[in-house]
Amino acid sequence: MKRAKKKQFQDFVAAKGLKSTRQRDLILECFLASDSHLSTEELYLKVRAKNPAIGFATVYRTLKLFAEAGIAREIHFGDGQSRYEHVAEGEHHDHLVCTRCGSVQEFENEAIEKLQQEVAEQFGFKVETHKLELYGICPKCRK
Ligand SMILES: [Zn+2]
Ligand SMILES: [Zn+2]
Ligand SMILES: [Zn+2]
Repeated sequence: MKRAKKKQFQDFVAAKGLKSTRQRDLILECFLASDSHLSTEELYLKVRAKNPAIGFATVYRTLKLFAEAGIAREIHFGDGQSRYEHVAEGEHHDHLVCTRCGSVQEFENEAIEKLQQEVAEQFGFKVETHKLELYGICPKCRK
């Protein structure tokens, strides 16, 4: 799966007429090696640990490029930070976001998905995409 994403990104870069660069490859490695919801800052710290020559702006731009290439999804959890997660083809999940510690739990619920669909249909609305985020206090913080 990781390899498929790399390939997808390489194809995208080639189609855009961009050169592939070592720095971008390293950023991609770091991104794919993590499986959480990374902010640009967090990814930057990971990248910098491996190559201090890579600047924040490069990481920022590269993440935008990942999103454009369809290998990353940009998410906002209402704290003003952009976060990114990998998107797997045809996969979908929603999020429970802790407002104290910022931890994020993923979930999938078929009944909710179906209900959303029904609501949209009632309004003659065709859903193309959606995000559902529930904000509250996680089990750890509730202790
Ligand atoms: Zn959903
Ligand atoms: Zn928490
Ligand atoms: Zn997620």
